[in-house]
Amino acid sequence: MIYNDPRRFGFMTLVERNELETHPLFAQMGLEPLGNALNGELLAELFKDRKTPFKSALLNQKFIAGLGNIYVCEALWRAGIDPRRAVGTLAKKSAKSKAEAELLAVSIRDVLEDAIRSGGSSLKDHVQTDGSLGYFQHSFAVYDREREVCRKDGCSGIVERIVQSGRSTFFCPRCQR
Ligand SMILES: [Zn+2]
Repeated sequence: MIYNDPRRFGFMTLVERNELETHPLFAQMGLEPLGNALNGELLAELFKDRKTPFKSALLNQKFIAGLGNIYVCEALWRAGIDPRRAVGTLAKKSAKSKAEAELLAVSIRDVLEDAIRSGGSSLKDHVQTDGSLGYFQHSFAVYDREREVCRKDGCSGIVERIVQSGRSTFFCPRCQR
């Protein structure tokens, strides 16, 4: 096994299987984004009354586990949600809000599935077990595309980069509301 962590966010530890649920690193872990539980209703409930911006809430592993910066940016773009907006706005009872919450849940799942299918997002020297590079980075809609034209059909917005909680956020100010 080779452990290569070019972005230096990770670390490794060994845990007995029966201690996984109670292990300090896992006990606080949020929803599994690819599990069946993730849907619009649950997201709305999870984010109810919170003023946290979407970007920070989705990056918070206590809500949803395993969503990194790139995938949060991409999921919010797919869902047409402004990363600066408060997550509590998702909990409104209107049909429009419910549809939006559902679209966000679907967008999170889709972006992860698309990335996995593409072999992940290769950053410099990241390689697959067979030595090939992941290529999801070629499918980014907003991430790392500052000042480029938005890829959404019919949108002529220009992708902007801002910094939120010390991390780069890429979004289209025209179609993400
Ligand atoms: Zn756009």
